[in-house]
Amino acid sequence: MTTLLEKGRLGESLAEYEVFDMHAHLMTGPVPWREDPADHLVRAMDQSGVKTSLVSSLARAGFRMEACNDLMYEAMRRYPDRLLGYVYVWPGDANAVRAEVERRLAQGFTGIKMLVLMGYDYVYPGYAPAFEIANERRLPVLLHAYGGQAGLDDVPVLADRYPDVNFVLAHAGAQQVEHHIRIADQVEHAYMELCTSMATYRAVETLFENVPLERIVWGADDLPLNMSHQLGKVLGAQIPEEAKVQILSGNARRLLSQIRT
Ligand SMILES: [Zn+2]
Repeated sequence: MTTLLEKGRLGESLAEYEVFDMHAHLMTGPVPWREDPADHLVRAMDQSGVKTSLVSSLARAGFRMEACNDLMYEAMRRYPDRLLGYVYVWPGDANAVRAEVERRLAQGFTGIKMLVLMGYDYVYPGYAPAFEIANERRLPVLLHAYGGQAGLDDVPVLADRYPDVNFVLAHAGAQQVEHHIRIADQVEHAYMELCTSMATYRAVETLFENVPLERIVWGADDLPLNMSHQLGKVLGAQIPEEAKVQILSGNARRLLSQIRT
């Protein structure tokens, strides 16, 4: 039998595994050849054998959330069988956040994306309506959770308030892997999402050894990161083959199957 790692090395298709990417972006800046960001993303998915990506658009019109989500909605309509959308929220006005999340969910968006790097902690009141709706519907909320302003310690506080939210903690393979493991111990609905440009040695193995397998999901962060090297660290990890398939596909699908409509 050809292993996943051998398939990756040989450039063989991973299509049979229906790889699910929990973390992608529509981004124009890093594509200097001016390719449409949705076209770029789907092309990258095809090259790497990724079936579905759950995507957010963050950088449209000076990060104006409505404009970002418009771009995402357009991409979802063009690639309905490949791209799912996170609603990006900017928490400056709580009423606008509630209206935007409700409107986008009615349009078929799947989850919510927040980015602590924008200067608001996740406990900032402007985010509350988004968490309330996510709690009612058991949505995945993707949180950038890496770097000096990671916001990780806010996650247990939020999980007490919103016990049915599925918190997807991005960049769990980055340098703060021990910190992510501590949060996973405290928060039953915290999912470790693996994308990072800089991974701790044995990051995937360390998470596998310390976090329940069903709570590890794969994401690429393409763009700005490259999908193929994000796949490579899972294909090459020293963990069982079945665990790789769960991380790359099954766990994300189980997470999304919990959404209440
Ligand atoms: Zn990202």
